[in-house]
Amino acid sequence: MKKRLVLIGGGHAHMMTLAHLDMLVEKGYAVTVIQPSEFHYYSGMGPGMLGGTYRPEEIRFATRQVVESKGGSFVLGRAERIDPLKQIVILAGGDEVGYDVLSCNVGSYVPFDMAADKAGTCFTVKPIEGLMTAQQKISELSGQRSITIAIVGGGPSSIEIAGNCRQLTNGSDLHPAKIQVFAGRKLMSRLPQRVQLDARRILEKNVIEIIEGSYVKKIDSEQIQLANGNQFRADIIFSAVGVKPSNIFVASGIDTGPDGGLLVNQCLQSTQYPNIFGGGDCIYFEPSPLDRVGVYAVRQNPVLLNNLKAYLAEEVLQPFDPGGSYLLIYNLGGGIGILYKWSLIFSGRLAFRVKDYIDRKFMEKFQSFEH
Ligand SMILES: Cc1cc2nc3c(=O)[nH]c(=O)nc-3n(C[C@H](O)[C@H](O)[C@H](O)COP(=O)(O)OP(=O)(O)OC[C@H]3O[C@@H](n4cnc5c(N)ncnc54)[C@H](O)[C@@H]3O)c2cc1C
Repeated sequence: MKKRLVLIGGGHAHMMTLAHLDMLVEKGYAVTVIQPSEFHYYSGMGPGMLGGTYRPEEIRFATRQVVESKGGSFVLGRAERIDPLKQIVILAGGDEVGYDVLSCNVGSYVPFDMAADKAGTCFTVKPIEGLMTAQQKISELSGQRSITIAIVGGGPSSIEIAGNCRQLTNGSDLHPAKIQVFAGRKLMSRLPQRVQLDARRILEKNVIEIIEGSYVKKIDSEQIQLANGNQFRADIIFSAVGVKPSNIFVASGIDTGPDGGLLVNQCLQSTQYPNIFGGGDCIYFEPSPLDRVGVYAVRQNPVLLNNLKAYLAEEVLQPFDPGGSYLLIYNLGGGIGILYKWSLIFSGRLAFRVKDYIDRKFMEKFQSFEH
């Protein structure tokens, strides 16, 4: 029987493995990819899609098409649990997929427990495809009247969503929206002061109100309640409160880091089950915990591909080196960005153009494997 390699999620850390899937199939392995959507969306361009800079087709990878054209099997479904002893993945709905080697790139999610009733009003910044629904809803409501949009969270994804909501509602047929960022204690508090100041200046120039000094405690339908007792109303509420790794590993009783991410060693291999690997936001890298940014998922690609091949062929694994500091560029809408690496910080049109160029190149590279 052929050795079975199963990938859960075709996320940013699996891009190279997907691109070289035909090579694994030629070596005689049966490769299966499980994903709840036929497409994987590139998060770096998600806020830009919300604002209307990019069309959904420009920011997504046709996972199913790539997998099937390269001789693999694609299973449309959500992995719910892994049974590492029986070596099966259990899908929502109960179907099972057996594996000999498993690689997990299931990403992270935004907890939104504070909202009692999420129907139609509340959106999370992930999954990225949800931003398409949010965009439709905002456009529909703003076509009728001036609405209020609230973004809960004071970090990078919050300012990107706020800025791109402004870009969206500046559209000619729409009523301008009131936009409020509920930033908790302080806007962008974990970033250097210059980044904080630039973010504040750009948001304020775009008439985006920043509410600080208290955290959101509860959201009930359209009512936002702060811990200090203040209350606000909004038509659309985004949660951008940070992400948590997929809970699939906790649900499976597999060793995790303190945040619930799959505990992996230097070789991106589960510390408990050597035939399970992982990359991206869903892992906890034991040697040195990593920030949950796409940069690390992208850097893990060659090592993950190499180690899956090596493990299947019973060869030596390669360690992952996270590398040094990374470049971050935030898209604040209206063609304006904030660029930040080491002490180099600047904002404006050039920063956005650099981001747009890098993001489009990344998409071009991996979308080329679709043909
Ligand atoms: C709005 C926003 C903007 C961002 N911008 C940037 C940026 O500019 N630069 C940067 O470095 N980082 C950015 N980040 C962080 C970045 O999104 C993450 O670090 C990155 O997405 C991690 O990639 P991933 O492949 O691990 O996870 P994901 O991108 O979440 O991909 C996971 C994949 O797994 C699939 N999946 C999920 N659950 C299951 C399941 N149960 N079964 C099967 N498949 C499943 C999903 O459908 C998806 O295809 C941004 C985040 C957000 C929210």
